[in-house]
Amino acid sequence: MSGLTDRFLRYARINTASDSSSSTSPSTARQIEFLRLLEVELSELGMEDIELDEKGTLYASLPGEGSGDTVIGLLAHVDTSPDAPGENVNPILHRNWDGMPIELCEGVVILPSQTTDMLRYAGGTIITSDGTTLLGADDKAGVAIIMEILETLIKSSDKAVPPLRIAFTTDEEVGRGMDNFDPARFGADFAYTVDGGSVGKIDTQTFNAWSADWKIKGREVHPGSAEGIMVNALRVLTDIVSSLPPEEMPENSSGSEGYYYPLSISSVTSEGNLKMILRDFTSEGMTSRIETMRSLEKWIKVKYPGAEISLEMSEQYMNPGEILKQDRRPVEFALRATGKMGLQPEESSIRGGTDGSRLSFMGVPTVNLPTGGELFHSRNEWIAEQGLELSYGIVLETLRIWGTQ
Ligand SMILES: [Zn+2]
Repeated sequence: MSGLTDRFLRYARINTASDSSSSTSPSTARQIEFLRLLEVELSELGMEDIELDEKGTLYASLPGEGSGDTVIGLLAHVDTSPDAPGENVNPILHRNWDGMPIELCEGVVILPSQTTDMLRYAGGTIITSDGTTLLGADDKAGVAIIMEILETLIKSSDKAVPPLRIAFTTDEEVGRGMDNFDPARFGADFAYTVDGGSVGKIDTQTFNAWSADWKIKGREVHPGSAEGIMVNALRVLTDIVSSLPPEEMPENSSGSEGYYYPLSISSVTSEGNLKMILRDFTSEGMTSRIETMRSLEKWIKVKYPGAEISLEMSEQYMNPGEILKQDRRPVEFALRATGKMGLQPEESSIRGGTDGSRLSFMGVPTVNLPTGGELFHSRNEWIAEQGLELSYGIVLETLRIWGTQ
């Protein structure tokens, strides 16, 4: 087993799930415990400027001996998604995988036909959980790749890479990854998050993302004498949901299409709340979605004059694609590095966001590099040992290209 795989397995076993219901930063103490472990390992490696911000970011530097002085940042998030269990992760290695479905435990089966490019790893080693938890390759694979690259560079006589700034962050999975991040303290000119999936893909676009929060106040009265008096908040909310275009829901859209996604309704007659998210790749598309929500608000106010209706919308993150157009080097070098690893490079869009979406708008243009992991946030999550190693190669080669500029 390679040192990289070994390191990944060691990190994957540690529970670092974040928690959206917690109001602390980071949302769970176990993330800080993992950062403390990484802090020790960075210091044993001989990294410089190691600083652990107790709100949830671990920073470090490696001077580099390349010819340029552009500072390159590498980031990975230490938390795993709270959408699937993250305690007692027990990674399983499926060696000499025969390309057939992998049954982990009852009801948890990984079908090669339902996952992007699994069959390319037939004959190799696939790593999964035992089916009772997620695996956490998102983003322990990114953490392991960065740590392994640092160790390689420090032990190597060839340090022809740019000055590097490293950041391990928390709470990415609950959308708060950049809340306490300090771009000035980070000090990188460009950065790469190592948080992508399939090898070959270099993610340069994410959604533009907004949230929409509806609050309804109704009027409660005994149902036997409710005629003309009762205003049922629950009916107002279900009416809002059923007015949304069904073809523009996550389950009915793909590729470059955006969507409306009603996440949750909680309601009784007297009051209720509907939480939604809106996603679109273009800013014009997002503006039109926001306008649609405002028209819906007007219409629903006319339809239910007795209800108190409020709609609050706020921006969550934006597509960094526009920013990355201004200086294409971070993208071009990553594509070139991918080609050097013998893969077909492809610039791609994430139907979601990364810390890099927000970081790009904080002044550090950021591209997302692959980890090789797939089916994130689920008990079916898997990563191929070879995919992990190819991703390591892509990140290292990208740094080497920067080092020759
Ligand atoms: Zn991730």
